[in-house]
Amino acid sequence: MTHLLPIFPDVEEPFIIAGPCSAESRQQVLDTAHALHGCGVQIFRAGLWKPRTHPGSFEGVGAEGFSWLKQVKWETGMRVAVEVATPAHVRAALEAGISIFWIGARTTGNPFAMQEMADALSVLPEVTVLVKNPLNADIELWIGALQRIYAAGVRRLGAIHRGFSQTNTLYRNAPHWDIPIELRRRYPHLPILCDPSHMAGRNDWVEPLSQQALNMGFSGLFVEVHCNPDEALSDAKQQLTPQQFKAMVNRLTFRQNQHEDEQLEQMRRLIDECDQELIDVLKRRLNIAAEIGRHKRSNKMPVVQASRYNQVLNERIEWAIRQGIDGQFMRAIMQLVHDEAVKVQLSNE
Ligand code: PEP
Ligand code: MN
Repeated sequence: MTHLLPIFPDVEEPFIIAGPCSAESRQQVLDTAHALHGCGVQIFRAGLWKPRTHPGSFEGVGAEGFSWLKQVKWETGMRVAVEVATPAHVRAALEAGISIFWIGARTTGNPFAMQEMADALSVLPEVTVLVKNPLNADIELWIGALQRIYAAGVRRLGAIHRGFSQTNTLYRNAPHWDIPIELRRRYPHLPILCDPSHMAGRNDWVEPLSQQALNMGFSGLFVEVHCNPDEALSDAKQQLTPQQFKAMVNRLTFRQNQHEDEQLEQMRRLIDECDQELIDVLKRRLNIAAEIGRHKRSNKMPVVQASRYNQVLNERIEWAIRQGIDGQFMRAIMQLVHDEAVKVQLSNE
């Protein structure tokens, strides 16, 4: 996934996508959309087909909702995103002029479904596709789903971290921040948004989770907002009112994009230099260890001499503590360095 294009070329980061869990009625959709447009939101979300645990729950209004979403576009100019879970959803959404899709957690976890989605999307690579993480904390499954969409030719591709289904947690879906961080390490150009609503499962935790995500440099937020959450037909407890959403956005601290921070870049260059020096010193030390190995061999001495090792270890820890470096940390480093030196001495046997 090396040739990605901006997911929203005309919108500035961090991207804020907001809207109801489900589109329920024309009035509900328009009331929520106008309120969000008033808060400066540029991308509106609404689910038309809802994956529900039990049959008979509200499963979304389906294609009927497209005309409501079209009205949102005309009246507010906002762009509109819907969840797609089958090729038929993709075709219907494309016909309705929608070009931003998200793929839900339940679909991401199913490689057959993902391949069908990729095939359906391959006809229109200009669309934007956001892939939520699968329900279980499996980064490979998430990456596999993203790769299928990328292989279909979609270049406006992003990920949404919505937490992972897990027992014994207060969250509805526990965050496991290490997983999106690893995803970013592997694919630095892939934008990752955070969906704090499905993580929290309750509206009062949406703000702290949003702030945490922004602090970690996520590319944006994907938040559920409903004009009347108490009456919502799905996910009532986690949806914010537009007023709550506005207050939250005003309180959130949006950090400067890291790429534009020259001071940080300079400090990173200094760190690079330190690491280079560290490697040079280690190399010098290992060369000396190899020479010591040869000397011990020709004098028939054993490789490890416990008294010398203890002295080296204790002395280095003491030197480090005097420099304000943690003793435990130094002990761990010296043990690794010593182990490697022994290996080098033995390999010359
Ligand atoms: C949603 O965004 O409304 C949704 C169903 O999300 P998820 O796939 O994360 O459960
Ligand atoms: Mn929802």
